[in-house]
Amino acid sequence: MQVNVLGVGFDNITMEEAVTEGVRLLSAEGAHYAVTPNPEIVEVCREDRSALEAVNGADLVLADGIGVIYGAKMLGTPLKGRVTGIGFAQGLMERMAENGKSLYLLGARPGVAEKAAENLKTQYPGLRIAGTRDGYFQEDGPVIEAIRASGADAVFVCLGAPKQEKWMRKNGEATGAHLLVGLGGCLDVFSGEVQRAPEVFQKLGLEWLHRLAKNPSRIGRMMKLPMFLVHVAGEKGKKK
Ligand code: UDP
Repeated sequence: MQVNVLGVGFDNITMEEAVTEGVRLLSAEGAHYAVTPNPEIVEVCREDRSALEAVNGADLVLADGIGVIYGAKMLGTPLKGRVTGIGFAQGLMERMAENGKSLYLLGARPGVAEKAAENLKTQYPGLRIAGTRDGYFQEDGPVIEAIRASGADAVFVCLGAPKQEKWMRKNGEATGAHLLVGLGGCLDVFSGEVQRAPEVFQKLGLEWLHRLAKNPSRIGRMMKLPMFLVHVAGEKGKKK
């Protein structure tokens, strides 16, 4: 079942259910992709039709961001809970390591994906890394070809939103992978370049505050959050 929050259809599932579905898609025929929108991306989708199509066209739309959970609740259609992109990725890698599936890491600045690959191979023994590639390429063709040649089952696409969602929609099929996941800044975290917020921030849904404190230039982007809540309140008014 999906819950509509300002035009974006979120899957109403728990983390466990999301990982189970991800594992199923990994072995299903054809190409599939998963997205993890937060309020900022929902706001982008309101103004960018092709971003909205890319997000809503995904096989899995996971509610990453406490704001989405609040928004859905305010609209009277609560979601089961938050499914963070990073948690989903971790759950998926655990299962991939058990099943001998291979993963391609695409995105972030040069050198970051390689570092992430080294760390992930240690953290998930048995996980096969099919290849890596930074996210600052000019042409899609050689990147698609490299992924196809690697024979990867899954690709983590970390190019920032909404670039990664559009990229997966356009090129997912051509990569030959069964599951692509849009994960924003996750490779920066997996590589150890960026520290994830302390657990207490994560539990309170305040990861965004930690990221802002570490990187104050994000303030412009974060101003989208209050706008999101204003738009949700407006939508709620219309529903009455
Ligand atoms: N990035 C990239 N190619 C680009 C633009 C961005 O690979 O053309 C990477 C960037 O280096 C970073 C990630 O995409 O690793 C985006 O991180 P951000 O924290 O903005 O993403 P969020 O998780 O907030 O969506």
